[in-house]
Amino acid sequence: MEIPFAEAWKIKMIEPLKKSTREQREQWLKEAHYNVFMLKAEQVYIDCLTDSGTGAMSDRQWAELMLGDESYAGATSFYKFEAMVQKIFGFKYVIPTHQGRAAENVLFSYLVKEGNVIPGNAHFDTTKGHIESRKARAIDVTCDEARDTQLEVPFKGNVSLEKLEKVLKENEGNVPFMVLTITNNTVGGQPVSMKNIRETSELCHRYGVPVVMDSARFAENAYFIKMREEGYADKTIKEIAREMYTHVDAMTMSAKKDGVVNMGGFIATNNKDWYEGAKLYCIPFEGFITYGGLNGRDLNALAQGLDENTEFDMLETRIHQVQYLAGLLDEYGIPYQRPVGGHALFIDADKVLCNVPKEEFPAQTLTCELYLEAGIRGCEIGYILADRDPVTRENRFGGLDLLRLCIARRVYTDNHMKVIAAALKNVYDRRDSITRGVAIEWEAPLMRHFTVQLRRLQ
Ligand SMILES: *Cc1c(COP(=O)(O)O)cnc(C)c1O
Repeated sequence: MEIPFAEAWKIKMIEPLKKSTREQREQWLKEAHYNVFMLKAEQVYIDCLTDSGTGAMSDRQWAELMLGDESYAGATSFYKFEAMVQKIFGFKYVIPTHQGRAAENVLFSYLVKEGNVIPGNAHFDTTKGHIESRKARAIDVTCDEARDTQLEVPFKGNVSLEKLEKVLKENEGNVPFMVLTITNNTVGGQPVSMKNIRETSELCHRYGVPVVMDSARFAENAYFIKMREEGYADKTIKEIAREMYTHVDAMTMSAKKDGVVNMGGFIATNNKDWYEGAKLYCIPFEGFITYGGLNGRDLNALAQGLDENTEFDMLETRIHQVQYLAGLLDEYGIPYQRPVGGHALFIDADKVLCNVPKEEFPAQTLTCELYLEAGIRGCEIGYILADRDPVTRENRFGGLDLLRLCIARRVYTDNHMKVIAAALKNVYDRRDSITRGVAIEWEAPLMRHFTVQLRRLQ
């Protein structure tokens, strides 16, 4: 008999989960105005809201916390962290920050000027925010394949070189850098191939434009390159990661993802001018350059997290679990964005709740139904998140309407995946009877999804 796959770790510490009854959940969801962001975490059984900062640290990371050096300047923790970043990414200059958006804020304060154009493969919301708040423009140059949710291609996060060249040509002299996001979060955690990374940076460099890698899920991206791209099967994750970064000029990192810490981020580069420029913004925004908003112990845990999460077994366990859940959904015929990416599943709510009119927000309705069914918290990535058109103030129904289920790193077991899949199946089986959705009672003018108050229509 073939020995089956199993996790590359065992469990040393557990955190009890709280179950609830359907009656309780109905009450809680009503009190939360049908917005799962307003639920208390203890009212949730399995939390798939985000994979950011929700990972479980290893025994070695917890041990590193005890070794933290809390000196204001020059702490050993900084040098340990700096050495690990230098080793994994090959960048000499390293600035810690308290999270990914802080890294963007510090670096972009130096690089982005009013009127600039910054192309990228689907900028993450905070990245876009930090560009637009400086009166610059973010232009999406993701490949067209990413738009077809059912198309199975290995590197759906890739940059379209044609789209990129058009932007570079039309805006010569006005593009301070390009943002290459790995994996491509916005289109579903889809990877970018090494070939595309190389060709993207060659093209940018031909136009004299540097490339900044938005690196939150760089290790998952390296895993997909190893598994899917010719010539990489025998390379280690660390070798692949190192190669990815030889092509680009700098990185911003949300360490809350592939760093497997609960808080943290950094900037790294070989460009001395950028380093000197960014340093000036680190001090007022984040703190002195050897701690950047983090505790010494956090820097230690992050160094360890980067080291162990760039090992194959860790990533195999992680991606295997996400793919296991996707396999169950295939079995039940539940439509999701294909192929599944590295950190989350995106359920196509329009194809599930066909009887709920788009004006009543099918994906938000599905998010509510899944919570009511089994206490599972997902997140709407759809018409509510899309906000209103800034000019007409109409809802924007042009994009996709998805329920995102993020899988936290090293937190849940495959049995929890079975619970998620079964709960989805139960909702799916009674989809025809769900004919009404939700209506907005109150909303903020911008980023409304966090605080929106809804009413359930009957
Ligand atoms: C999470 C994320 C960020 C922002 O990082 P935070 O740590 O949440 O501030 C930026 N880019 C990408 C691709 C991300 O996934």
